[in-house]
Amino acid sequence: MTRQLRRTHNCGELSDKNIEESVTLCGWVHTRRDHGGLIFIDLWDKEGLTQVVLNPQIDSLAHQHAQSLRGNYVMAVHGKVRSRPEGMANAKMKTGAIEVYVDDLEILNRSKTPPFSGWEDEDVAEVLRLKNRYLDLRSDRLQNNLKIRYQITRVVRQVLHQHGFIEVETPMLTKSTPEGARDYLVPSRLNPKTFFALPQSPQLFKQILMVAGMDRYFQIVKCFRDEDLRNDRQPEFTQIDMEMSFIDEEQLFRLAEEMMQTIYKEVLGIAIATPFPILTYREAIDRFGSDKPDLRFGLELVDLGDVIQGTSFKVFADVLKKGGQIRAINIKNSAEILSRKALDDLTELAKTYGAKGMAWIKMQKGELQSPIIKFFEKDMLDHMIATLKGEDGDTIVFIADKPKIVADALAHIRLAAAKLLGLIDEKKINFAWITEFPLLEYNDEEKRFTAMHHPFTAPKEGDWEQFADSPEKISSRAYDLVLNGNEIAGGSIRIHQKEVQEKMFNLLGIGQKEAELKFGFLLDALQFGAPPHGGIAFGLDRLTMLLTGADSIRDVIAFPKTQKATCLMTQAPSEIDLKQLKELKLKYDLS
Ligand code: ASP
Repeated sequence: MTRQLRRTHNCGELSDKNIEESVTLCGWVHTRRDHGGLIFIDLWDKEGLTQVVLNPQIDSLAHQHAQSLRGNYVMAVHGKVRSRPEGMANAKMKTGAIEVYVDDLEILNRSKTPPFSGWEDEDVAEVLRLKNRYLDLRSDRLQNNLKIRYQITRVVRQVLHQHGFIEVETPMLTKSTPEGARDYLVPSRLNPKTFFALPQSPQLFKQILMVAGMDRYFQIVKCFRDEDLRNDRQPEFTQIDMEMSFIDEEQLFRLAEEMMQTIYKEVLGIAIATPFPILTYREAIDRFGSDKPDLRFGLELVDLGDVIQGTSFKVFADVLKKGGQIRAINIKNSAEILSRKALDDLTELAKTYGAKGMAWIKMQKGELQSPIIKFFEKDMLDHMIATLKGEDGDTIVFIADKPKIVADALAHIRLAAAKLLGLIDEKKINFAWITEFPLLEYNDEEKRFTAMHHPFTAPKEGDWEQFADSPEKISSRAYDLVLNGNEIAGGSIRIHQKEVQEKMFNLLGIGQKEAELKFGFLLDALQFGAPPHGGIAFGLDRLTMLLTGADSIRDVIAFPKTQKATCLMTQAPSEIDLKQLKELKLKYDLS
């Protein structure tokens, strides 16, 4: 079928500058109103809405056609642009000054009545929206999110191109190297009983590209991790993945900062200051209890170990004896706002992070209220309050426990208190680099060290030698970029010498044989002139969430999966034909 009408403009484009022009618009019937003889249609496409008017006196055939038009029908209209009559202009609409008087129309396709309108029905259950994703994707919200997502990747490509990077694709069917999360596996038909894995990240390929002399690589790439999903996780997600040769942290930071700065400027028109502040991991944990601190507000943690030393308050004394910590936050000017109930809620919150409880002192109307002050001598109490700069109107909250529990609990109390008190200025954009992460963390279950970032991260210079007997003290050259309390990127300077890489595997309890089997190709490559190199990967989905203000990661992905890792639109994953299984020489375990 040949189309008579050919689009001249989109539905967000016409203004009073186009008056008297003959135009053709194509789009979907968004709304339709009959007013006596006149039919008004708001025609929609991704650029906006235009009001088109059908008048039986201009074209009765078109008008007759229009009688059969329903919401979501796809149509083309030809007509003349007119100024809207006096008082009828709509300042809220981009094209609100004009309307198109139709003299010809073509129905390009009909539509069933949809289960909901992507344009209007905000309160539709997410299950229904995901099943009919094409309808939901028509909403301004999702259209806008996907445009911003695209703008981010456009700017990334532009900035990296200017700095001499090239985008290189790495395999999607690759080797299973379980170093972090669970792999998604793909059986190989041609090599029965063997499996590919979908990449958790292109880490080793990008390092090998450096050995190959590519110098500056990037890729906007899908990664796959078969994990139990939290609200901001998806089984397949996108990274802006980069690697560079002959660089140090500072050079990499400057480049990443320029990328962030250009994204904010070009996508949102917001200027951000660089360079970003740098906090070591230790400093971040000491001051904020978290390695992704939200720096838009204060409420810093204060260690009371020295002040409380020698206390007769048994709970605190026992914790100190066992090598634990007592740390506190002075929640300024909160005594009025933090009711008993609010303090109970904060205590419950602390318990979810393993704390046994939360102690508190309220300083209100010249008095101290607290279940614990009776256990302290006046001097120690005064000293404690002075250390925390406590004043009338403040509430001091304490956690006493193992260092990790204290940090986790207070980090979350800090955030919850800031929300309660309205201390977070949503307009602020606070980036920070977190550096010098520990190289290793001890895994109690597996009774061995695992790599805190990944096994290819270089140790901080000199630390190998200095902490030969206490590897837990070795710092690494890993870094994260944090934005308003969210980790948006992570990377490291890598190990580029085979012997060092072998030593690292050794520390991780990966024997020579296993290392050869799993990472032999990397160890091979490192022997052939691997340059010093390092890189970083940004989480594109999370970055887009932060730039759009979306509440859910599903709102920045065109076709997201549910929390059970399924696609409601295509019904994936699904059962497969027995024939396919046979070809793969696989059998179900039907037990
Ligand atoms: N591949 C790492 C990750 O996915 C990032 C990096 O070290 O560049 O977390």
